[in-house]
Amino acid sequence: MTKPKEIKYAGIGAAPGVAIGKIYSLSSRQINVENKTLKSHEIEPEVEKFRHAVEKSKNDLKILQNKTEEMDKDTAQIFQVHISMLDDVVILEETIKSIRENKKNSDMAFLETMEQMEKTFDNIEDDYLKARAADLRDIKWRVIRHIQGKVDEDLNKLKEPVIVFSRELTPSETVKLDRSLVLGFITEVGGRNSHAAIMARSLKIPSVVGLPRDLHQFIHTGDQAILDGNKGILIMYPTLRTTRQFEKKQKDIFTFEKSLDSTKKLPARTKDGKDIDMAANIEFIEEVESIKDLGAQGVGLFRTEYLYLAKDQLPTEEEQFIEYSQIIKKLDGKPIVIRTFDLGGDKMPQSFRLPKEENPFLGVRAIRIATSFDENIFTTQLRAIVRASVFGNVRILFPMISCVSEIRYCQNMVNKVKKQLKTKGIKYAEKIPIGAMIEVPSAAVIADLIAKECDFLSIGTNDLIQYSLAVDRGNEYLAYLYKPFNPAILRLIRDIIIKGHERGVWVGMCGEMASDPMATMVLLGLGLDEFSVSAPSLLRIKTIIRSVEYSECEKLAKNALSFNTSQEVENYLEGILEKKFKYLIQA
Ligand code: PEP
Ligand code: MG
Repeated sequence: MTKPKEIKYAGIGAAPGVAIGKIYSLSSRQINVENKTLKSHEIEPEVEKFRHAVEKSKNDLKILQNKTEEMDKDTAQIFQVHISMLDDVVILEETIKSIRENKKNSDMAFLETMEQMEKTFDNIEDDYLKARAADLRDIKWRVIRHIQGKVDEDLNKLKEPVIVFSRELTPSETVKLDRSLVLGFITEVGGRNSHAAIMARSLKIPSVVGLPRDLHQFIHTGDQAILDGNKGILIMYPTLRTTRQFEKKQKDIFTFEKSLDSTKKLPARTKDGKDIDMAANIEFIEEVESIKDLGAQGVGLFRTEYLYLAKDQLPTEEEQFIEYSQIIKKLDGKPIVIRTFDLGGDKMPQSFRLPKEENPFLGVRAIRIATSFDENIFTTQLRAIVRASVFGNVRILFPMISCVSEIRYCQNMVNKVKKQLKTKGIKYAEKIPIGAMIEVPSAAVIADLIAKECDFLSIGTNDLIQYSLAVDRGNEYLAYLYKPFNPAILRLIRDIIIKGHERGVWVGMCGEMASDPMATMVLLGLGLDEFSVSAPSLLRIKTIIRSVEYSECEKLAKNALSFNTSQEVENYLEGILEKKFKYLIQA
C-alpha cells in the first residue's frame, strides 16, 4: 500500500501547543445495540429516556441547521429534513409501543423501527426517496448515541494517548476528556471562544477547531497527525521531516514557557509602579495548585457550571458546599470569585431540562434560569457558596446581568440566604462582595447604574463581543467578524471602566481578551484593575505588564481608540508589539 501524502488543513487555533500522535475518530465509531428485556418498573423510565434522546438530537440538529444556514442552504435543508423525521409520529409511536409491549430497550426498539422504515424507502425506485433512507440512517445513529451517552463511553475507553477528532465536541463532552490520554483535539465545528475551546485551554489540551466540514470523510482512527494549536493547522500523514520540525517546535515552546518562570513570584507591577491584580480563571479544583504555583493572586472567575455538566444529576447543596470549601481552603485566604452557574446557551445540563428554545444564547441562560425557570437550583447553589464563605475570601459574581433589577434580585437572594442560615445558626462570612458580569451590551451601557448596586464589575468579553457584534462566539464561519479590537468593543470597554470607577468599584476582565497578549497594553491603558486570565497565559501577561510603563499604555490605548476598523487597530498594535514582545505574542 502506498503511503498517503502529507496534507495540511487550516482551522482555528483554539488552545495553544503542538500535539503529535495518532487520531482517534469519534465520528467513525462503532455502536453496538444489545437486545435486552426490561423489567416492568424499567419501562416508563426507558420511554422517558427515549423521548429525551429524541429532544437532544433535535436540539443538535437545530444548532447544526442554524450554523449552516448562512453559508450552505442545501446542507441546512438536510438538517431540517432530519428534524421533521424526528417529529414523525409513526416513528415515535412505533418505538414507544415496542418499548411498552415488547419490553425492549429503547435503543433496540428505535433501531428496529428505523430499519423497518429504511427497508421501505430502499425498495422504492426513486433516487430522491432512496436518499431519504440515508437520512434515516443518519438520525438513527444520532438518537442511539444519545440514548447510550456514547461519546463519554468512547472517550473513557481510550487506551493510549491520541488526538481526538470529533465533528463537534460539546462542553459536557470536553469536561469528560481524560487529560492524560488526550494529546489534543480537533473538530469541524466551533470557534475560538466556544466553551469547549475555552475549556481546552484550561485543560491545556492543544486544539484546532473550525476545520473543513467534510474532514470526517478523510481521516480515521489510527492515522498519524500533527496539530498546531497556535497556528490553527492540522497536518495529516506528516513526513518524517515535518514531524522533526514540530518536535523541535514542541521543545521550543517548552523552553520558552520555562523562561517565563522567573516572574512567578514577582508582582504584576508596571515599570512606573502601578499594581495590577493578576488572577486566573478556573473550571476545576485540580487547577488550583497550578495557578497558585504560577503566582496567581487569586481566582478571578470560577465557572461553577461544570459541576452541573460533569454529572447526570444536579449537584446537591452538600456536594457543592464540599467542592467550594475545598477550593477556598486550598487558596489560603487568596480571593476567589465564584460565578453562579452560567448554564444554557451551549452549556445544556443533563440533570434538568431547560425549555426548548429557538435561540438558546438569547434565552433561558445563567441568571435567567433563576428568574424565569427554577429558583430552587439557584438558591441551593447560593446557600452552598455562602456557607463555604467562612473558609476564605469569597466574592460572588452573577453572569448575564442585563438590567438593574436582575442584580438587585441577586443581591436580595444572597441576603435572603444569609438570613435563612442565620436563623439556623449556620456561619458565613459577613461581608461577601457581590459583582456583576458585564457581558450583555445593555449592561455595558448602564454599567454606572449596575455598579451602584454592587462591589465590583467583571467584563466578560467572550459574550460581550458575541452579543454586541451579533456574532455567535462558536461559529467558525463568522470568526472574521468576532473581533475584540472592533472599535465598538474598545469603546464599550473604555466606558465600562470609566463608569465603574466613577461609582468607586473596581473593574476586572475575565473574558478571553484579558488573556490575549496583544490586548494587554490597551487594557492597562484603559485603566483595567484586574486581569483574570487562563492559566497558560498568566506569565505572558504578567511579563508584559512588568515591562511597560502605565503612561505609555495610556497613550497607546488612546491611539488604539482613534481607528475606524478592527484591522487598523490590529495593524497598529502588531506594529508596536511585534518589536517589543515578539516571542510573547507569537509562541
Ligand atoms: C465571558 O463571556 O467573557 C465569560 C468570561 O464567560 P463565559 O466564557 O463562561 O461565557
Ligand atoms: Mg459569558
